[in-house]
Amino acid sequence: MFVTRIGIPLRARLAVAATLCFPLLAGAAPADVDAARIINADNTPGDWLTYGRTYSEQRFSPLSLINADNAKQLGLAWYANLETNRGQEGTPLAIDGVLYVSTAWSIVKAYDGNSGRLLWSYDPLVPRAKGVEGCCDFVNRGVAAWNGKIYVATFDGRLVALDAATGKPVWSVYAVDQGGHYTLTQAPRIAHGKVIIGSSGAEYGIRGYISAFDAETGKRVWRFYTVPGDPSKPFENKAMEMAAKTWSGEWWKGGGGGSVWDAISYDPDLNLVYFGTGNGVEWNHSVRSAGQGDNLFLSSIVALNADTGEYVWHYQATPGEEWDYDAVQQLMLADLVIDGQPRKVLMQANKNGFFYVIDRATGKLISAKNFINISWASGVDPKTGRPIENPGIRYDLTGKQITMLSGPLGAHTWHAMSYSPKTGLVYIPTQEIPWWYAPSKDYRPYPEGWNLATDSGAAPDFTVQGYLQAWDPVHQREAWRAPHKGPWNGGTLATAGNIVAQGTAAGDFNIYRADTGEALWATPTQSAVIAPPMTYAVDGVQYIAVLVGWGGAYPLMQGVQSAASGNLRNISRLMVFKIGGTASLPPPAPQPKFALDPPPDTASAETVAAGEGLFNQFCAVCHGGGVVSGRVNPDLRASRFLRDDGWFDILLHGGLQNAGMASFGRVLDHDKAAAIRAYVTHRANLDKQTGGNDANIP
Ligand code: CA
Repeated sequence: MFVTRIGIPLRARLAVAATLCFPLLAGAAPADVDAARIINADNTPGDWLTYGRTYSEQRFSPLSLINADNAKQLGLAWYANLETNRGQEGTPLAIDGVLYVSTAWSIVKAYDGNSGRLLWSYDPLVPRAKGVEGCCDFVNRGVAAWNGKIYVATFDGRLVALDAATGKPVWSVYAVDQGGHYTLTQAPRIAHGKVIIGSSGAEYGIRGYISAFDAETGKRVWRFYTVPGDPSKPFENKAMEMAAKTWSGEWWKGGGGGSVWDAISYDPDLNLVYFGTGNGVEWNHSVRSAGQGDNLFLSSIVALNADTGEYVWHYQATPGEEWDYDAVQQLMLADLVIDGQPRKVLMQANKNGFFYVIDRATGKLISAKNFINISWASGVDPKTGRPIENPGIRYDLTGKQITMLSGPLGAHTWHAMSYSPKTGLVYIPTQEIPWWYAPSKDYRPYPEGWNLATDSGAAPDFTVQGYLQAWDPVHQREAWRAPHKGPWNGGTLATAGNIVAQGTAAGDFNIYRADTGEALWATPTQSAVIAPPMTYAVDGVQYIAVLVGWGGAYPLMQGVQSAASGNLRNISRLMVFKIGGTASLPPPAPQPKFALDPPPDTASAETVAAGEGLFNQFCAVCHGGGVVSGRVNPDLRASRFLRDDGWFDILLHGGLQNAGMASFGRVLDHDKAAAIRAYVTHRANLDKQTGGNDANIP
């Protein structure tokens, strides 16, 4: 189906503008964004019009009022407290002096960019019990803007168009199928008048897809599945027929996976939409696909015709993947000179540790180089584009526990990177988190939980690292790095002022010289920063804005380890800086005293062991391996419900579902809930004796 962009004639637009009462720019309609405005974004450098500022997703701003010479004079201009002390992963948009911000639980807010005054707030009222159906926190990465509307994808799967002037919904549709484990955390992008949005949920069991909706009406225009369905039914298109040849067994029964949860970019000249796809369901290749085949289009970069959603090309980064190597990381467009030739490229710093440079017209690999010391492959074959796997890395075949670098948390994941055409460097929030994997014994699919057929965890006795890494994509080598305390730091921003900005998990916000990495300025943020900063200008003043707030997969799963990144407490805020800013944060409330006072550890070893297995299956992904929380969810070792039968009401009957703790009554009974409590009590007693880790109460 070919659908042309629906636009409002200029006269009608002016009429709309005249009827609006908007506080900042009389006569200009709020969020009056169209394709020409995004394509010509450098003509209005004070704006940040789409998730990565431009269609290139470079996160480079031509603004230079804040620069390497005056960065030392930065200060806080204003801040806004958020009501959700959860992971904040969003990038604000700035359009004509208004900031549009999305926060945890898919709440959207508009602020006056100069004063910080709240203009409106929209809460989609996502049912909190839905939280348990997402792998990695109730986060949201951003909104899109088009023709007077702001678009947000909500955690429970809606795509909502808001009136940019008032925050009132204009239309709302379900962008993913209901009743399964689909969620949405991605920032929508708008190409050719269509809102493009993917799907999350491959750890649970979904069939991934990406869809396009008419920006004016919400009507679905196209959908592209990332993995083939039941081959006894007709394939949706030739791409699915091709993909099905790379699968074995009965993969469609588990959904197949391949969610599209982060990168989307668009080349308006080629009219191609690019996106990355996630891992398979199950992770274990032998269970998922009888150990056979590449499993297209898992862990791939795919290009589609923006108008029709028809397949154009793909590049699969990790064929037959089984280590959660989602290839969804940011897909950055750039024009580079490589070997003396101008090339239109797509760049990705993949979870699997390779930095890919790809011809974005054809999908052909130009170069690939590991940007961390990976253990799973010795390189990428330049002829075939396939990784050269090291022996013994496929745990499904060896049946043994293997340790890998990188792991499922990625050498780089959703924390956005930036690129400066001035320095020619890409600024990557890089991390090294080794992980072990083994086939699950006696695996059977669970409709309520993760379906990996893989046991895994952070590899003990290995050092974790996190650093800002400046990478030369032409020569595929590191230019400089700035070390941090640990992994899971913020995304990055590069500007024409020769600066790179990044917040850290240790609770500070930093400015570096873009060419050398020299640290120029830092300020405490009181809480961890994982979101990428952005910059904008109003009335001749340049600002840098960043969301503060700790969360996401790493602290949810790895409480002990993530504490080493330096996170001290969890406060969610929007912070905005300018040269000469004199605002200050209120002093943080005293940290609550964390005291372990569990009831006696009286359960049998058998019960505790059974409880440990159940905890690892249903609880650990949110409450932390070893029952040590990472300051996002409550630390159950200190729960008063260890002494109180409210425990059963919560686990089996949804007693705290309005706080985000869903009922597990469909998969647990009283005995199982009691076994989990016995295990948690056991862990609390152990840590009370040893002094344990007490740094992680949220
Ligand atoms: Ca994944």
